[in-house]
Amino acid sequence: MRPLIAGNWKMNGNQREAARLAEALRGGAENADLLICPPFVHIHQVAALMLGSRVAVGAQDCHAAHHGAHTGDVSAAMLRDVGATHVILGHSERRTNHGENDAAVLAKTEAALTAGLIPIICVGETEAERLSGLADSVVEKQLGGSIPYGFITAGGIVAYEPVWAIGTGRTPTDRDIAAMHATMRTALVERFGPAARTTRLLYGGSVKPSNAAAIMALPDVDGALVGGASLVAEDFLAIAGAV
Ligand code: 13P
Repeated sequence: MRPLIAGNWKMNGNQREAARLAEALRGGAENADLLICPPFVHIHQVAALMLGSRVAVGAQDCHAAHHGAHTGDVSAAMLRDVGATHVILGHSERRTNHGENDAAVLAKTEAALTAGLIPIICVGETEAERLSGLADSVVEKQLGGSIPYGFITAGGIVAYEPVWAIGTGRTPTDRDIAAMHATMRTALVERFGPAARTTRLLYGGSVKPSNAAAIMALPDVDGALVGGASLVAEDFLAIAGAV
């Protein structure tokens, strides 16, 4: 399957920086699909700049409701309206900083599917959970609690992001990444059937040009969700070029 290299810009960049970064990525990559997820306020501009390119644009969160009295929130339909095609949901920074649990991620994912957005659900264990031997069960529980029916057939994507690898420069061993991706594949196929064999499973957490080739070569790793390195066009393209 063609890999997806997704950039999560998190809360970075002003309008000018967003436009400059987007323009540098407009040509896309030869062997991978590219997706960039700017902060809400830049999505409209970046989606317009990417029209006619092969680079997709997504958001980093959405609300579970279609519209209404939800001060400060943004609905999936609004994101679709301004040109987003994807949305990251359940990122560990949302789970930690905004108290999002699996039920909240499930509701947001349903809203994204209803609006025609492709959801990217993030899962991953903390360092304490890994050290206690709980990584598999934590991830299986997150998958079980946050993925609705209809997700697989709509092309939904799962990203394995160990919390302790995000922004730290540390990554699990290749063997641990491959093992977790195999665990996730098995869990999805058991629940949703053979269609889940083509569900893209991304790895995220300190992906950079120097480790991308090795990680992307692992079985059941169908792409990457990149944070810090997605803010530098050359690094993001180098990661995409390493698949
Ligand atoms: P880093 O690539 O900066 O570790 O961030 C990963 C991430 O959280 C992507 O969603």
